Amino acid sequence: MDYYSKQIHQLIEELARLPGIGAKSAQRLAFHILAQPPESVHQLAKALVDARDHVRYCRECFTLTDQEVCPICANTARDHKTIMVVETTRDLAAYEKTGKYEGVYHVLHGAISPMLGIGPDDIKLKELMIRLQGDVEEVIIATNSSLEGETTAMYLSRLIKPTQIRCSRIASGVPVGGDLEYTDEVTLLRALEGRVEI
Ligand code: ZN
Repeated sequence: MDYYSKQIHQLIEELARLPGIGAKSAQRLAFHILAQPPESVHQLAKALVDARDHVRYCRECFTLTDQEVCPICANTARDHKTIMVVETTRDLAAYEKTGKYEGVYHVLHGAISPMLGIGPDDIKLKELMIRLQGDVEEVIIATNSSLEGETTAMYLSRLIKPTQIRCSRIASGVPVGGDLEYTDEVTLLRALEGRVEI
C-alpha cells in the first residue's frame, strides 16, 4: 500500500484489526474519518480512550460499567436473590431491553469451549460460585443455545446442584447458535418465562 501516506496506512491497519472489518471496510472507514471535520474525529478518539480507561467490571455481577457497582446491582428495588447468568454484557442488555426481568445478573464473559481451549477458569465462573455463598434463591442459566453455551449450562448446573439453590435453564425459544443480542424481545421473554428447572 505504498500509494497511501504512512498515517493513512496506519489508520487502515488499526481499523482492520477490529472484528468484522476486512481490508476493504477498513479503507472505507479510514477515508470516511479523514473526510470528517477535525472536531468530530477528536470526539470519536476521545470516546474510545475514555471508554477504555474508565470502563471496568462491576464488583458484583462483572458486567462492564464505569462505576464500582453497576446501576442494576446498585438498585435495591431489584430482586437480588435471583441471578441470571449470561455470557456477555450485550446479552444482559438484550434482557434489560425487555424491561420484564427484575432480578440481577452475572456476566461470564465467554463460554466454555474445549475446541477453542476456553476452560471454566477462563470465564467468571469462580466469581459466580462465590456469589452463590450469599443469599440466593434461584440461578437462571441464560447462556446461548450454541454448543459452547450448552456446555457451560451443563457444567454450571452440576456445580450448583449441591448448593440446593434452584437452578433453571431458559427455554429453547432462542434459536440454536443465535446470539441472544439478536433475538427479539418477545422470544427472549418466552424463553425466560418458559424456563425449566434443571
Ligand atoms: Zn453489577
